[in-house]
Amino acid sequence: LNAQKSAVKAPVSLAYSIRELINTDNMRTHLHLLTKKAHVAGTENNLRVAEMIRDQMISQGLENVHFNEYNVLLSYPNWTSPNQIEISDETGKVVHRTSGRSISLIKEEQNDPFSEIQWLAYSAVGNVEGEIVYVNRATPKDIEHLESLGIDLKDKILLARYSSNFRGNIAQMAVRKGAKGCLIYSDPMQVASLGTGINETYGRTDKMPPHAVQRGTVFVGFGDPRTPAFPSIGELYKEKSEQELINEKKIPTIPMLPIPYSEAQYLFENMKGDATIADFQGSLNVTYRYGPGLIKNQKLRMIVHAKNEERKIQNVLGYIKGNQEPEKFVLVSNHYDAWTYGAVDPNSGTTTLLEVSRALKAYQNSTGWAPARSILFAHWDAEEHGLIGSTEFCEEYRVQLMRRAVAVINMDLIGGNQTLLGLSNPTVANVLREAAASVEHPNQFEIENGRETLYDSWKFYEPSKNNRSTHPYQRIPAGGSDHLPFFDYLGVPIVFFITSSLDAPPTYPLYHTIYETPYLIEKIMDPQFKMHKAIAGMFIEMIIKFTESKILPYDLKELTDDTIYDYLPRIQTHLKRAEVSGNLTEYLNPAIKQFELLEKTVKELSAIVQRRNISNLNNLSFDARVNENNKLIEFEKCFINPHGAPGNPQARHLLFHPSADNWYDGDAISQVHDLISKIETSLDEQELKRFSKQLAKEVALVNVAFICAKHSLN
Ligand code: GLU
Ligand code: ZN
Ligand code: ZN
Repeated sequence: LNAQKSAVKAPVSLAYSIRELINTDNMRTHLHLLTKKAHVAGTENNLRVAEMIRDQMISQGLENVHFNEYNVLLSYPNWTSPNQIEISDETGKVVHRTSGRSISLIKEEQNDPFSEIQWLAYSAVGNVEGEIVYVNRATPKDIEHLESLGIDLKDKILLARYSSNFRGNIAQMAVRKGAKGCLIYSDPMQVASLGTGINETYGRTDKMPPHAVQRGTVFVGFGDPRTPAFPSIGELYKEKSEQELINEKKIPTIPMLPIPYSEAQYLFENMKGDATIADFQGSLNVTYRYGPGLIKNQKLRMIVHAKNEERKIQNVLGYIKGNQEPEKFVLVSNHYDAWTYGAVDPNSGTTTLLEVSRALKAYQNSTGWAPARSILFAHWDAEEHGLIGSTEFCEEYRVQLMRRAVAVINMDLIGGNQTLLGLSNPTVANVLREAAASVEHPNQFEIENGRETLYDSWKFYEPSKNNRSTHPYQRIPAGGSDHLPFFDYLGVPIVFFITSSLDAPPTYPLYHTIYETPYLIEKIMDPQFKMHKAIAGMFIEMIIKFTESKILPYDLKELTDDTIYDYLPRIQTHLKRAEVSGNLTEYLNPAIKQFELLEKTVKELSAIVQRRNISNLNNLSFDARVNENNKLIEFEKCFINPHGAPGNPQARHLLFHPSADNWYDGDAISQVHDLISKIETSLDEQELKRFSKQLAKEVALVNVAFICAKHSLN
C-alpha cells in the first residue's frame, strides 16, 4: 500500500504528462451536445449522436474512424400511447388511472415528450387484470418468505421495488411464478432518503421526485436476442423466432412496467392483506402490505404497448496505432445510447472518453510519441437494450479479439463523486488498483478525511471481503455493461469501473430517469467536472499500463491465489455439505475424484506461476517478449469452453459468469455449484445419476482449462 500511495508523488510519468492535457471545458461542451435530445438506440436521434462522436474522433486525428453497423432486434413502447395502470371500483368504473408519463418540473430541462413515456424494453404486450401482491425486491429469499405465508403468485400482478438486483431477474422470477404482470417502482428508501417532497428532491439534490421512474431492459442475455454467438450483419440470416426466445426465458412473456413511487403509495393505500415484515418496508408514509388484492373489491389492470423491431445500430470505432506491437491493442470503451438524454448514463462516460482520446492524440502530435501497442476506442450502441452493439462486435471479430486484444477497459457512467465501484478479471485487478492509487480524489470531503486517492476512498467504503488482502473489494466479472461479452464469450480480460455516491448503489437515484440532463451534472453531481477529470486520469493510467508494459501486466498469481483460497474451498464445502446432508456419497464420488485432480493441477500451475520472474522477462529481446505476451494472451483463452454452457453458447467462460439470481453480480464456477444444488434437491434416482455425471464432467472441464493454462506458460 505504501508503494501505491507514493505513486501520486512519483516523478512525472508518461501517463501523468498526458493527463495534464485533460480539459474540463471540452467535457462540458461535449456533454451538452451529446444530450440535446433523448437518444434511444435505433432512432434518428441516436444516429445524430453517433455522427457527432465520429466527427469528433476524426477531428482529433484518430485513425480509421468508422461506423461498425448491425441490424438487430430492438424494443420500443408506443411513443404516443402511454403504458398505464387502472383501478376500477366494484361497478367497473375506472376510479384511478396513471398518466404513464413523467414530466420534468425543472424549467432548465429538455422537454421531449417521447422521453416521458414510462416503459421497460422487451416487455410483452399486455392488457391484464389481476390481484396485486407486493414482493419486495423479488429475490429468492423474498419469494420464499411470501410462500411461507401461503401467498400464491400465480395469476397475480406483482409489485416489486428496485434495489441492487437487475430488473431482468425480477422479470424472470415473475414469469417463473406464473404472474400475469409485474410493476416495479423505486422506493424513497433507496432513491430519496431525505423525504418525498419536490423541494428536498431533484432540483436541489440528486434525489428522485415522486413522479419519476427508472426505465431499462428486462432482457437477461447479451447481444441481439435472435442471434446468440452469431453477428447480426446486414441481411445475413437471423435464425431465432420470438417464440424461441420466449422459450429460452430470456425475454418475459408478461407485461412489465415501471411506476413512480407516488403511484406505489396509492396502491399500498388501497391494498388488502397483512402488514409486512420490516425487511419489506420502505420509507413511504404508508403501511406496506402483502396483498393479495385491493380493498373494496377494486380491480387492478395493466395496459402495456410494446413492439420488437429490427433496426440498424452503429458502434463508433477509431484507433491510435502502436509502433512496436501494433497488431495488439487495448480496447477502451463506453456506450453512447441512452434511455432519455443520457447525461450521466452513459454520456458522462462518452464525454470523458472523447477527452481521453483527444489528450492522447494531442500528446502524440506535440511530442511524436506513439504507444507501443495500439489503442482501439469504441463507443458502443444499444448497450441499454442488452449489451447489443458490443456483443455483435465480439461475435463478428471473435478470432481477432481472442488473438490480439490485450484487455478491455470499459466504463459506463460517472454516477457520483464519492467512491469507485470496480470489477475485473483477477489477472488485471492490479491495473485498476494502481490506476486508482495514482489519481487524487477530487472530492474535498474525502481528502479532509484522509482519503487522498480514489484508491483510498474505494478501500474505505468497500474494504476487501477476505482477510488475505488489504485492498479494496474488487468484484469478479459480472453483467450490467459492455465488458460482459469480452470476458465471458472471448476470454479477453476486462476492467470495468464506475463511480458512485453512497446512495442507491450500484447506481444513483436518478438513474435512467428523465432527469439525466446536463443540469444534473453541472448543478448537482459534478459541478466542476472534477470527478470527470479524475476518471479521465484513471483511463489514461490504465491505457498506458496496457500499451507500454514490456510484458503484459497480467498478474497470474492473483488468479491462482483466488482459485486456491476462494473458489476451490467453496466448491469443496458445497460438495461436503451435499454429501453429508443428503447421504449422496455414492453419487458425488466421481465428482469428488475429479475435484481432487483439479486441486492438483491448480497447485502445479500455482508453482509455475510463482517461479516466473518478471524482471528476467522484461530483459528479454523484443522478439522473445512478443512471444511471452502471446503466451499470456493464450493463457486467458484456456478458460473458454468453445461449446458454452448447456443451452447457452455465449456463456463460455468456465470460471466467471453473471449470477443466476442477479445479473449485476458475478459467480465463480457457477456451473459446478448449480449442478451440486440440483443434486441436493433432486429426488429422482435417474435424475441424480444424470446430474452426477454432468457434475464430474463439469469439474473435469475446469481442470482441462487449468491444464491448458499450464501448457501456455511452457
Ligand atoms: N446497463 C444496462 C442496465 O443495467 C444493461 C445491462 C445489461 O443488459 O447487462 O440496465
Ligand atoms: Zn450505461
Ligand atoms: Zn443504463
